[in-house]
Amino acid sequence: MKKIDLRSDTVTLPTQAMKEAVFNAELGDDVFGDDPTTNRFEQNAAGLVGKEAALLVPSGTMGNLVCVLTHCARGIEVILGHKAHQFLHEAGGMSALGGIHPHTIPNQPDGTLRLEDIEAAVRGDNEHWPRTGLVCLENTHNACGGAPLTPDYTDSVAELAKRHGLSVHLDGSRIFNSAVAQGVNLKELTRSVDSLTFCLSKGLSAPIGSVVCGSRKFITEARRNRKILGGGMRQTGVIAAAGQVAIDQMLERLAEDHDNARRLAEGIAKIPGLSVDPGQIKTNIVYFDLAGGSVTPEEFLKRVVEKGIKFLITGPSRFRMVTHHGITAGDIDAALAVIGDVMG
Ligand SMILES: *Cc1c(COP(=O)(O)O)cnc(C)c1O
Repeated sequence: MKKIDLRSDTVTLPTQAMKEAVFNAELGDDVFGDDPTTNRFEQNAAGLVGKEAALLVPSGTMGNLVCVLTHCARGIEVILGHKAHQFLHEAGGMSALGGIHPHTIPNQPDGTLRLEDIEAAVRGDNEHWPRTGLVCLENTHNACGGAPLTPDYTDSVAELAKRHGLSVHLDGSRIFNSAVAQGVNLKELTRSVDSLTFCLSKGLSAPIGSVVCGSRKFITEARRNRKILGGGMRQTGVIAAAGQVAIDQMLERLAEDHDNARRLAEGIAKIPGLSVDPGQIKTNIVYFDLAGGSVTPEEFLKRVVEKGIKFLITGPSRFRMVTHHGITAGDIDAALAVIGDVMG
């Protein structure tokens, strides 16, 4: 039986076109600025999101950290959501390595931060308080079920931030999912932020890499911070070549993952003992709950995994499944049959 891995869109493997591009990539030493494939790719990536410049980094975690370090000196405070990936899942890098202070405010179920909450979190001038420097958003919002933020919302946060002299960073690991789901131009989602990070190695199927984008001045400083973190790499054309194929060929097809996620949620909603609201599924991430039934969450996970369907347990009775390249509508139906069996 085919293994169906729904743990994350990071399990995607490089396409044949990527392998060929890697094989044929023209290479040089990127620490000397000499890798032509990387230089071309960074320019294209910046253009794609409407920024002046871009920087290839090994991971989304490093991309976010490079940006926070570039925006903030030690002791500066960052406003971000309590469910932000940067707060929950990046090993506290901003404080561990940057001496930067995270100030969390509640993420709403749709992934937003309320403007009033941001406003209230901005520090005044008082020697007892840290100084606020940065607001971070996440689009799509991973822990809020892949919720996409709109261009208007992003602009309104940026306007508020500007009014207070703050910068805005966007964790756009899945920014392409957001643009495709909303049918908006990518640049509308990025036009008002000062920096963003996006991932090549999630639904876009590249094997490695994320990209930091911003003004030319910002990227020059970010390049120095990448070096500090040990992220200066040599023949990076092998990464950039696959990344170029990812942005050339893999964006539009994300709609298929969104359809499959909706199909999955609709199926799960029909299974007694499981609970999910399919109307909330806008992109490729499905969280659902075990709500009663005779099976424990651990037992449920174990029995479904035994039948070749991999997924994650993310809370006391909460699970996550993510659709991605390589998962078909047929796979979703097969997974639903197994889940129905285990619950039935
Ligand atoms: C995956 C992810 C990251 C980090 O990416 P890595 O490449 O795994 O370090 C950052 N933010 C969000 C929202 C993510 O989903």
